Amino acid sequence: MFDTVLIANRGEIALRVVRACKALGLKTVAVHSEADANLRHVALADQAICIGPAPSPKSYLQKGEIILAAKLAGAGAIHPGYGFLSESAEFAEMVENAGITFIGPPSAAIRLMGDKVSAKRAMTDSGVPCVPGSDGALPEDNALIREVADRVGYPLIVKAAGGGGGRGMRIVREPAELLQAVAMTREEAGRAFGNPSVYVERFLEMPRHVEIQVLADKHGNAVWLGERDCSMQRRNQKIIEESPAPGIDRAEIARIGELCAKACIDVGYTGAGTFEFLYEDGSFFFIEMNTRVQVEHPVTELVTGVDIVAEQLRIALGDPLSMTQADIRFEGHAIECRLNAENPWTFAPSPGRVTDWIAPGGPGVRVESHMYAGYTIPPNYDSLIGKLLTHGASREQAVARMRVALEEICVEGIDTTVPLHRELMREPGFRDGGFDIHHLERLIDGGAFNGAKG
Ligand code: ADP
Repeated sequence: MFDTVLIANRGEIALRVVRACKALGLKTVAVHSEADANLRHVALADQAICIGPAPSPKSYLQKGEIILAAKLAGAGAIHPGYGFLSESAEFAEMVENAGITFIGPPSAAIRLMGDKVSAKRAMTDSGVPCVPGSDGALPEDNALIREVADRVGYPLIVKAAGGGGGRGMRIVREPAELLQAVAMTREEAGRAFGNPSVYVERFLEMPRHVEIQVLADKHGNAVWLGERDCSMQRRNQKIIEESPAPGIDRAEIARIGELCAKACIDVGYTGAGTFEFLYEDGSFFFIEMNTRVQVEHPVTELVTGVDIVAEQLRIALGDPLSMTQADIRFEGHAIECRLNAENPWTFAPSPGRVTDWIAPGGPGVRVESHMYAGYTIPPNYDSLIGKLLTHGASREQAVARMRVALEEICVEGIDTTVPLHRELMREPGFRDGGFDIHHLERLIDGGAFNGAKG
């Protein structure tokens, strides 16, 4: 049991966690870098501790310092947010060993699901459909590698078991390219992830990215909270997410959702989590699990009414889930636009002083952001400055509300992705829904926004 939570993160997610803690009567401790003393959640938390200089390896990634701060502040639990240390099994284990509650799954579950080879094997054993591929890591022998690849078929993708953030992947279209791609991915994976093991799976040409949100408690209960379509991406970075996923058979989503909930119980997973799938030609293929809360979690909150961060906290406190699967209702349609401090056409980062910030409002509008007029965005971190969400009875209404909210929002002093979102709300492919993960890049390459640039 704990009554104080340390938030080992920054920005909008740290603010989201502070709010959830306060609503549950929990005290909060903010840890921040020297560049982040002026963040909203730092002002709102009960205690604030500076843990180091701006670069995250010297502050937000300092495992020992963060645990020490928790001890000093009397925090019995640590919420890692997303990014930073949220998927570090080593950090979760250090927290556990320090007698502090890690607000997330057990370190063993993070380790199992963090290695894509062991995750795929566990999911196959549990009956979750995966992208067809090699059975485990590739062998060393070149002839054997060729045999495995021929069995999987071309085009295929070579992936690092320890890969993440869109790195450690290579598409292979011809058998002649195979061995070099394997060698290069191995070398890169060893250097970047400390794990040279690689595997291959079939490369899907035009998939959609559809993911399932789950919650599991420490009493053997697990539920699935519907899906999110995150196919609007650029360089594997999500830009817009929505739920439900347009045009996908509800019965098939329910079948996959049930399998994900069951898989949580099979692997001893607790807390919030997301099963990521590629969806092509009516079928779901598991690619990986995110063992943490996600940027896009509010999309699911809007359609289900479940407070996912509050559930994370309750699960960590040892409470049973506050709902059963039968209690979960899906109402209307929700959309999230990510607001990044970036040039909307070149995506170049645009840190600096926000001279004005006026958030939109009205029915079905939700803003998750740590911005305020006069805030200076440091150049050291991710460019996400907030998320704009709308909810409507139908997709059409959610899109209409988003269009109005995007007209209303005012961010001055920096470039943001707002102008891109304004264009996308009118774009025919988006209006129809159900586009694949290459849709946005095709639009950009085809010059769809050239008129908007001037
Ligand atoms: P990461 O952990 O780096 O995010 P993922 O396994 O989630 O890696 O894959 C990231 C992205 O790469 C996917 O969203 C998809 O766009 C692409 N991708 C991964 N595997 C495949 C595949 N088998 N076929 C086609 N695209 C893939």
